[in-house]
Amino acid sequence: MISIDEARRLVMDRVEPCPPANVSLVEAVGHALAEDVKADIDSPPHAKALVDGYAVRVADLRQASVELQVVEEVTAGQVPTQSVAAGQATRIMTGAPIPAGADAVVMREQTDLRQDQASEWVTISTKGIVPGTHILELGASFRKGEIVSSAGTLVRGIEVGLLGEVGCAEVKIVCPPRVAILATGNELVHHGQRPDPGQIRNSNGPMLVAMTSRAGAEPVDLGIACDDHDELAARIRQGLDNDILLLSGGVSAGRLDLVPEVLSSVGVQTVFHRVRLKPGKPLWFGAIGSSSKSTLVFGLPGNPVSGLVCFELFVRPAIEAMSGRPNAAVMESCVELAGNFSHRGGRPTYHPGQMRVDAEKTTVLPLQWQGSADLRALTDANCLIHFPAGERSYGPGELVKVRHLDAD
Ligand code: AMP
Ligand code: MG
Repeated sequence: MISIDEARRLVMDRVEPCPPANVSLVEAVGHALAEDVKADIDSPPHAKALVDGYAVRVADLRQASVELQVVEEVTAGQVPTQSVAAGQATRIMTGAPIPAGADAVVMREQTDLRQDQASEWVTISTKGIVPGTHILELGASFRKGEIVSSAGTLVRGIEVGLLGEVGCAEVKIVCPPRVAILATGNELVHHGQRPDPGQIRNSNGPMLVAMTSRAGAEPVDLGIACDDHDELAARIRQGLDNDILLLSGGVSAGRLDLVPEVLSSVGVQTVFHRVRLKPGKPLWFGAIGSSSKSTLVFGLPGNPVSGLVCFELFVRPAIEAMSGRPNAAVMESCVELAGNFSHRGGRPTYHPGQMRVDAEKTTVLPLQWQGSADLRALTDANCLIHFPAGERSYGPGELVKVRHLDAD
């Protein structure tokens, strides 16, 4: 049996990024940028006011309070027509360009306005006003030609805003991989159906569809196949049209665990079968295809938590790399254990845990868990705690490694 690290290396060695495509700015959300994006303008394009108030010359503010003559008003979208000379000020609104001569903006709340027949006068309380106060200088955010977002960046709402700021009507993203999902097992019925005696609902299918989609890939739900050689072969062939095929069930040692032999019979090359891991030992992995187009095939164990752990450790990194995010943060950290825990077993184990952040520190509590069929226990989990192989008792405060689960 191979180790978790060796298995991950064998998977990642076969991963190729998907091709790029141009999409509209808003459609880019959730995808990785296929190329660096450069700014086509300076931002801000002019030195601008950050508050509503008066643009002034700091050299005029020699006393605690001074009165200046208001020469004009500039609102956002306008450009100043007057420069500010000694003893003068311009009324300015947030976002408007700073007039020549001015070197600070005083908030309206720090001023008092009076009007006589000839003009307007503003009295300014000068406390705290220094050159640059409430001004964002031209290009302070970025300069024309600068890379504002680099290839491999995951586009979130924030990046959509930034790319909009630099004029991207279209964005070149990495296409998400298409991931076919096929649940196998004679005992399975559609999750919307009531199971007859001996049957169970196919819960892995929808779980894997949802997790695939959350991981940034495009799921293709192939439903359920029976444990029958010919049916499995036909459905597997259908799935091989995609970038990844995920099978659930049929990879253990039972008489009807036909998935590995059927995969071989349709030409999928075995890369490994079984990993030193708990839960998830029966994982099967292989690939088919040419150098230009290949399909990665994961035979995930049928027990729901085993399938989930294999998805987190092997499928998610493959999806992220194929989606153009090879350096997506591996969400792992070292955290103090919240209580006592005894671990025994010949394989490294991922045990459901609940991380809690309080004012002082983050701790993790190993949850009560009945093993690989007990998905319910994981509804309270936000991480998997990694316990190395062997027998060992852990005490409160001991550092353990955790792998974070998707937060939403
Ligand atoms: P298998 O890997 O096919 O031996 O299945 C292992 C266990 O997982 C059995 O108890 C199955 O009934 C259960 N199982 C298999 N497939 C699914 C599925 N799609 N949804 C929920 N449980 C499943
Ligand atoms: Mg089965």
